[in-house]
Formats: sequence, C-alpha cells, structure tokens
Amino acid sequence: MIKHIGILGGTFDPVHYGHISCANYVQQHCGLDEVRLMPCHLPAHRETPGVSAEQRAVMVKLAIQLYPKLQLERLELDKHSPSYTIDSLKLLTANEPNSQFYFIIGMDSLCYFRQWKDWQNILQYAHLLVCERPGYSADDGDAPFMLSHYGVTDIKLQRQAKAGCILVLKNPLADISASEIRQQLRQPSLNITSLCTKTLDPAVLNYIQTQQLYQA
Ligand code: ATP
Repeated sequence: MIKHIGILGGTFDPVHYGHISCANYVQQHCGLDEVRLMPCHLPAHRETPGVSAEQRAVMVKLAIQLYPKLQLERLELDKHSPSYTIDSLKLLTANEPNSQFYFIIGMDSLCYFRQWKDWQNILQYAHLLVCERPGYSADDGDAPFMLSHYGVTDIKLQRQAKAGCILVLKNPLADISASEIRQQLRQPSLNITSLCTKTLDPAVLNYIQTQQLYQA
C-alpha cells in the first residue's frame, strides 16, 4: 500500500506555530499518513551564532510531541553537508519506493521557486503543497507561472500521478516568522513569555530560555 508523506523543509531556527499549524492543516486537509519536518543542514558560517543544528532538531521534537502524525526527518542534518531539496527527495524516494511525497512550502517560497536547484526535477519526485502566508500572494514572482503550469484544485484527485502538481492551501494564516522571533528574543527588556505565547510552543520557549539561545 502506498504511503502518502508530507515533507516540510526549513531552517526551523526556531520552529514556530506557523510551521506546526501548516503541517497539521496539510496533513488533515490532504489526508496524508504523516508529515515530517526536515531541518536543513546549515554551513557553520550561516548558523545563528550559538544555535546548533542539533538544538534546532531538539526544538522540532519538542514542538511536535503532541502530534502523532508529525515526525522529525533527520536526513539533511545527518548528512553534515549542505543539501538541496532535489537531492533529499531523490534519497527519500530511493529509500522508500512505496511512498508518495508531497513537499510543503510557504507561499514566499513559491514566489522564487524557479531559483531552486533543478526545480523542474523536484516536480518529478513530489507534488508541491503551498501554504498561504501573510504578505505573500499567488500573483507575485514565480507563483503565477508555476500555478498556470502545474496548479490543481484537489490533490486527492491526483493520486494516480506520483508527482508534478501544485496545490495552494487556504490554511488559517499565521503571521509568524522565525526571523521576527529571533529579533524579539534578542531584546532582554521585552516580556518574552507573554510575547511568544502566540508564536512558540511553551516547551520550545522553555528550551530556548534554559539553553540561553538567541540572546544578544
Ligand atoms: P525566517 O523568518 O528565518 O526566514 P521562516 O519563519 O520562514 O524563517 P523557515 O524554517 O525558513 O521559517 O520555513 C520553512 C518553511 O515553512 C518555508 O517553506 C516557509 O515558507 C514555511 N513557513 C514558515 N512560516 C510560515 C507561516 N507562518 N505560514 C506559512 N508557511 C510558513
């Protein structure tokens, strides 16, 4: 039996409710067996100072612990070298030939998708599920081209095709970004706990505070 697996790639620096709500919405709306959050490897010079790849992975584990259909995918972290989505999808498909993959991105990523390495090839290995994101529109950048060529209105109808379709999801919008959260955490004068109740899982915030991550 074919397993339907969503992959949400990202830096997760740190993982926030925007990621989790997207993953849960996609899993339920598209009837996926599971969604895996796949933190990317970052070269040392691009890491947030003081936050390791392993710590980003721990935060993902804490954020998904209440959701049995969400998993941590370590593929890119364990490679210890920068990896491209196309390479990861090739590896996943080779390792799990009985699975169908759905790569999940935010609308911001669709807007510059044609800059991704081998972007056409990505669509040979997976469907793309695009979560709406405040501030980004399907009219911007590469999105109109991508949607006019590959857009569909119901992914469940495309299950005979292993890959190659793009569905935009009308998920509940979450106006949250990791860069904004990092900026807030650097300001010691702010009441971080109350500021982050709508953006970070309490277990993630607690980990950030005990490990003293993202400090100025
Ligand atoms: P940064 O602010 O540092 O760029 P980010 O919040 O975009 O980080 P990433 O880990 O880079 O987080 O995002 C991983 C994936 O999740 C990307 O495809 C991104 O578009 C998507 N994403 C992140 N936040 C949201 C959100 N609030 N709504 C929808 N998609 C999101």
